Amino acid sequence: MSFTSLGVTSPLIGAVSQFDKPTPIQTTAIPLILQGCDVLATAQTGSGKTIAFVLPLLQHWLANARQDPLPIQTLILVPTRELAAQVAATVKSCALYLPRRMKVVSAVGGVSINPQMMALRGGADLVIATPGRLLDLVDHNALQLSSVTCFVLDEADRMLDLGFADELGRILSLLPKVRQNLLFSATFPDALQSLASKFLRNPTRVEVKDSPNAIPVTVQRAIEVDESQRTPLLRYLIKSEGWNRVLVFVAKQYSAEHVADKLRRHGISALAFHGELSQGARSMALTSFKASQIHVLVATDLASRGLDIIELPVVVNYDLPRSAVDYIHRIGRTGRAGKTGVAVSFISSESNAHFCLIEKRNQLALLREQISGFEPQNQVPGTSGTGGIKGRRKSKKDRLRENGLR
Ligand code: AMP
Repeated sequence: MSFTSLGVTSPLIGAVSQFDKPTPIQTTAIPLILQGCDVLATAQTGSGKTIAFVLPLLQHWLANARQDPLPIQTLILVPTRELAAQVAATVKSCALYLPRRMKVVSAVGGVSINPQMMALRGGADLVIATPGRLLDLVDHNALQLSSVTCFVLDEADRMLDLGFADELGRILSLLPKVRQNLLFSATFPDALQSLASKFLRNPTRVEVKDSPNAIPVTVQRAIEVDESQRTPLLRYLIKSEGWNRVLVFVAKQYSAEHVADKLRRHGISALAFHGELSQGARSMALTSFKASQIHVLVATDLASRGLDIIELPVVVNYDLPRSAVDYIHRIGRTGRAGKTGVAVSFISSESNAHFCLIEKRNQLALLREQISGFEPQNQVPGTSGTGGIKGRRKSKKDRLRENGLR
């Protein structure tokens, strides 16, 4: 299967020349989107979903003549500014191959609105936005959505998780009735299903979840440890397992700073990454992490959402995620683009019941590990003798077989 056989034509074919072949989500979604169908796709971050919608959208745009002022034809709505930056980077890199300039504007919160208002003067071809800022811009008459022909809702489950249901409702009411809709989500909770049924027109359901190539293999490990011993254990694992690029999830901004500080004091290059940092500080942290100048990023969920770091081999749930959906999103950060990744969760006597719930919701049953020297003093309930494997480490192959995400 090649991109050409899916209907991608020159010059856009050049934009994907670095890839051997389309991923499963691309193989299924690209022809449907090119035909103009509404699509409801189950797709994880890292499955190649961004290219799956960007290529056909750009190809559609190219087929239309230029107008002045530019009507906003395509709206891509995302839950966070990090994801917006990532999608914008993909759009812009593909747009480089177009024979005429496409005006792409990012409309995200957390930065001054004025440059975005300026950028929108004379219109835009494609807008990538977070919901709150998009509505602010509408309220400032800086843009209007009545010319949108294609609406993309990316990471829709996360959008609802973050409480954007009302904003989403208002945005939908501003869009023209006739348009193409593409909805991408890692999970489909009931609230999302009912929302989708309201605005998609006979959508084609695309589900590549069970395809062995769709979701890269992520080995999941659950390690029992007392809460007070998590940072020493993290340090130990980073050194003993030779982890050189680790994303560590914590629940609070304070913990992000605290854990990063503790690691630095022990000679491990680490930075905190959370929503209170300025955009500049976040970009700097991300760039240093990507360039391997720092080895550990200690992040909160919100800040790290959608991070597109190729070859992120390890994520650590230092604090467990709040929901089962968040767990899937977090571990989706590793094992990307065909690489095997490791997702480690620290389980204490306090958090065990919550982790059992996460496992149940995600139909997982992970074997509990204990690491010699870090055995919990507070016995984790319900697990003694039922899989705790103190003193014995499973081989990588065993773990792959047992815990591979299918
Ligand atoms: P996503 O977050 O799902 O858009 O996935 C993005 C990651 O997948 C980026 O690292 C892309 O470079 C990579 N990617 C996209 N398409 C392909 C492909 N056909 N083959 C290999 N990697 C791809």
